[in-house]
Amino acid sequence: MISENPAVKLEDGTKVCRHTVEVLCPNCSRDVDEAELAAQKCNDCGFDLSTPKQSVSVWATSVPKGGTKLWGE
Ligand SMILES: [Zn+2]
Repeated sequence: MISENPAVKLEDGTKVCRHTVEVLCPNCSRDVDEAELAAQKCNDCGFDLSTPKQSVSVWATSVPKGGTKLWGE
């Protein structure tokens, strides 16, 4: 299961980059869906998912200076 969190600016001014959180089974590293997470059991290997493995990916939000350059130009 991958939940995507858009970039947000918090009330105290802190900026949080757009990031995705992928929930994986700690035993077989298979992607876990919501139903499996609710049941706290991996459908694939039966492992207890009360403490699932989370993989966080942060997206770079920097904008290239001087405009975009297309491939082949
Ligand atoms: Zn598993």
